[in-house]
Amino acid sequence: MSSAENDLYQEVVLEHKRAPRNFGHLDAPTHQAQGTNPSCGDRVAVELRMDGSTVQDIRFSGQGCAICMASTSMMTEAVKGRDVDVAKTLQQHFRAVLTGEEDPEQAPLGKLVSLAGVRQYPSRIKCALLGWHALMHALADNDGQAVSTEEGAQP
Ligand code: ZN
Repeated sequence: MSSAENDLYQEVVLEHKRAPRNFGHLDAPTHQAQGTNPSCGDRVAVELRMDGSTVQDIRFSGQGCAICMASTSMMTEAVKGRDVDVAKTLQQHFRAVLTGEEDPEQAPLGKLVSLAGVRQYPSRIKCALLGWHALMHALADNDGQAVSTEEGAQP
């Protein structure tokens, strides 16, 4: 990774950790899910208010490491006001970039590309994907169900 990319990554993570976007709760969420990443201790809950297939509003809450909080914060910004299909496509590209299946230069990630540096730290990939994981479960209408990054670890 170039030092410019590294600097941007650090800066974006710290900025979102300091001032997470869309943090808190919705009055009347239509969909919600929680996610845990036992390997790091991250826990996030995502609440959505859907209008048809549009994510009208979104909030997240919980506690996690800087990468988890920054990635979840950026996820909420990326999907708010967007169609479910757009959110799912973003999630697929984001995941593929972090797991090394897709080149970050080619992937249509928008601002999320500044988190592509996480792919250099395999132990942090689950942290970056947790918020998205919870979002996908919320959209799948598993209302309030807890999900985990550890397969088979669900209660
Ligand atoms: Zn973490």
